[in-house]
Amino acid sequence: MRCFSCSKLSVSILCDICVKELFPTEIHTRTMGTLDVISFYKYTTLEALLLTKHKPEGYRIYKALAKIIMKPFMEEFVENAEGDVYIIGVDEQVKSGYAHVALLTHAMKMKTSIPLHASLMAQNRVNYSGKDLQFRLANPRNFKYTGKKNIDAILVDDIITTGITLQEAQKVLMQNGVNVLFALTLADVEES
Ligand SMILES: [Zn+2]
Repeated sequence: MRCFSCSKLSVSILCDICVKELFPTEIHTRTMGTLDVISFYKYTTLEALLLTKHKPEGYRIYKALAKIIMKPFMEEFVENAEGDVYIIGVDEQVKSGYAHVALLTHAMKMKTSIPLHASLMAQNRVNYSGKDLQFRLANPRNFKYTGKKNIDAILVDDIITTGITLQEAQKVLMQNGVNVLFALTLADVEES
């Protein structure tokens, strides 16, 4: 096949050279209220890859991004962490045959980091794209949490835009006795 990014012949969806170039070299932290959101890229850097989300190639692209970005981060994190940490993806609903956020959280699974798949689901799926902050605030996701309580957890989504969704998720988790350590996203839409 051909590398999705550079079109050169490749055995995987992203060739070795593109994988090396994608390896994150810095992390960015945005603080929203009491929530720290860590991301690795500006949205524009990853846009072409992230836009595959609901296309057939998205499955392999998201799997590759999870392996290149999320997995190494978690490997380092668990080395320095005490006790178990749980991984909670934001609304891991299945679309086009897979849940793209679940591909990210699945790659973060280690001995002491445990994904709780599809445990935090939105009950309101009104489309946010192109909508402003006011609209998003007026139409909350209304998350329902069905996972384990009294745990430490990392919240995961693919991108952060306004941060409203992540804050709403944090609030629901806190109400359920989940201590959200921080949130992790691939890319931040805010250009700063
Ligand atoms: Zn390539």
